[in-house]
Amino acid sequence: ALRQSTSVQKVDSVHWSDIGGLEGVKRVLEESVIWLYKHADAYARMGISPSKGVLLYGPPGTGKTLLAKAVATESEANFIAVSIPDLIKGEVGESEKAIAKIFRTATRCSPCIVFLDELEAIFGTRESSGGLGKQLVSQLLLEMDNCGKGVVILAATNHPEAIDTSILRSGRLDRLVYVPPPNFEERVAILQILKEKTQFSDAVDLRTVSNLTSNFTGADMKALVRKAGLYALKASRVRSGTKATMSNIEAQDFFSAAIDIQPSVNQLGLLRY
Ligand code: ATP
Repeated sequence: ALRQSTSVQKVDSVHWSDIGGLEGVKRVLEESVIWLYKHADAYARMGISPSKGVLLYGPPGTGKTLLAKAVATESEANFIAVSIPDLIKGEVGESEKAIAKIFRTATRCSPCIVFLDELEAIFGTRESSGGLGKQLVSQLLLEMDNCGKGVVILAATNHPEAIDTSILRSGRLDRLVYVPPPNFEERVAILQILKEKTQFSDAVDLRTVSNLTSNFTGADMKALVRKAGLYALKASRVRSGTKATMSNIEAQDFFSAAIDIQPSVNQLGLLRY
């Protein structure tokens, strides 16, 4: 897990256009990270020290990982994804070494985005077992403060309330950005993107499908399309005897799928954000 978490990935190029909705979030990331890379000299000349990073928070499945990858693509930076729960699984001392290694690699490969997923995990667990959690947090803060200029940190959490404020201080993750679940129009936009990767029948009205999916996240929409695809496959198998050839997903398949797939976060769950 450690080796995996420190490898530099060639991002499977996610572009802004692969992300439906979230225009406000894209704008903030454009201004706070991408401009920083594109106009690094100008910032320096003006004596502006740019932000070290951004904390994305919100319910699971709303596109935080996707956003981080798109920022890396759009700013032509390398990308290192780190799952914090995987990172802290290691032996005592090993996680500290892994953190140091990640930031060393990032500095060497800069411009580089370091994506810390499930950041809240670093503040929990070990705290109770004798202050080791604290040690890990201070190591992370130290690395953040000292890593190269071309390194930008994007972190994600579903539990903003669990994040220690020391990490949110100026010069660290000093931008907090809420990544909300999609509204009606944004769900249409996400369906449009998913449609390009699958085969929807032209008769499928995306607005009708959007109506079926209030409270769905992007990840829920993806699950819905997969399920609808299975229904389409089943229907084509019935038509053609034994051979399962994929035919287009019809409106009926979406209706069937919408009965199976429920939103992963309900209104009550959203109150947390
Ligand atoms: P988690 O908090 O569980 O890590 P996340 O917010 O990082 O979730 P992603 O992993 O980025 O969410 O999203 C999961 C999948 O859902 C994506 O791979 C993508 O297919 C789809 N998805 C989510 N949001 C969007 C969106 N706004 N536009 C298009 N696809 C989306």
